[in-house]
Amino acid sequence: MLKDQHFLRIPGPTPIPPSVERAMTQPMIGHRGQETKELLAQITPKLKNIFGTKQQVNILSGSGTAGLEAAVVNITKENDDVLVIVTGSFGDRFAKICNAYGRNVHTLEINWGDAVNPEQVKTYLEQNPSIQTVFLTYCETSTGVLNPVQAIAEMVHKVSGALLVVDGVSCVGGVETRMDDWGIDVLVTGSQKAMMLPPGLTFVAASERAKKVMRTNPQARFYFNLQTYEEKLQENATPYTPAISLLFGLKQVLHLLEEETLLEVYRRHVLMRDMTRAAMKALHIPLLTADDDASPTITSIQPTDFDPEQLRNVVKEEFGLTLAGGQNHLKGKIFRIGHMGYCSPADVLQTISLLEVGLKKIGKNVELGTGTAAAQAVYIKSIGKKDENDF
Ligand SMILES: *Cc1c(COP(=O)(O)O)cnc(C)c1O
Repeated sequence: MLKDQHFLRIPGPTPIPPSVERAMTQPMIGHRGQETKELLAQITPKLKNIFGTKQQVNILSGSGTAGLEAAVVNITKENDDVLVIVTGSFGDRFAKICNAYGRNVHTLEINWGDAVNPEQVKTYLEQNPSIQTVFLTYCETSTGVLNPVQAIAEMVHKVSGALLVVDGVSCVGGVETRMDDWGIDVLVTGSQKAMMLPPGLTFVAASERAKKVMRTNPQARFYFNLQTYEEKLQENATPYTPAISLLFGLKQVLHLLEEETLLEVYRRHVLMRDMTRAAMKALHIPLLTADDDASPTITSIQPTDFDPEQLRNVVKEEFGLTLAGGQNHLKGKIFRIGHMGYCSPADVLQTISLLEVGLKKIGKNVELGTGTAAAQAVYIKSIGKKDENDF
């Protein structure tokens, strides 16, 4: 095996496009100089397109969790009644942050592997009218569920005056997101997943309603005070030294996404999901989530007749293919394939083909090529859909 060859198919960090790697090696520039202003001026309109917003998308240095914490400290205060919709371990994280800050945390616990239903949110909010903020995970990375953000946002605003905060870390940039049209009040994402960058940046945008709450919020905060970022970004600047190398990379990522077109980026992710799921079905290996709830960025697989940890170890050792395991009570019970960011249908075919070898190696009775063929068929059908005469 080539020791330096890695196939990183986990839900972040994800592989970096070579042109983005090159962009990040540019010589350092002054963070208060004209070059940084121009860099931010080029970046911000494109980030807004990805968020689907006219609001500023603030860029903070820190991992995705920093963005989640920023959302909590800017729009909630001590003893606020908040509802956290928990569909997996990232919903749990939102609840932990809210608890750490002394919020009065209500949780709507959904079976891990299922998406939340808008009716469940309606009932909860009607029974608990004191709730001021609702926290929701868009793609629940621990299970591979894509929660119906648009429908939940509509419901939250229909039955309550609460603000809706959405964690989009493992899908924004790979899945359609329309913050303004859908009525998301705070949207957070990170750099190392569908955004094709190394870890280190988090992006946070707030609606007019959320900004109004922020302005009068007595909660103490300094580095995470979003108002400071909002004001500075109006002059194409950041309040503190930004992660300049990552901004160089971000500019190139945004160029790549624009070149492919967001519509095609979103289609590619849906296609990769459908290929992966078709392969598992053909191999008779159960999926954790229902088709309707499945995220275009990550797929969870729940085998019944082999140990997922053994499979993960074998493909890692044999091919340098890294897959993710399960979290919390799903540890040792599932494995997850990340297909987001710098990942193509070609990568999916490779992953499935390698997995089939891994399955044989751990003694599972599979017919080689069955999963790959099913994924290929989904791919070929998609070409037919795009242009009937072309294939
Ligand atoms: C990865 C991820 C995060 C952020 O995790 P960090 O390790 O802090 O970057 C937050 N939410 C979701 C849904 C994620 O997948």
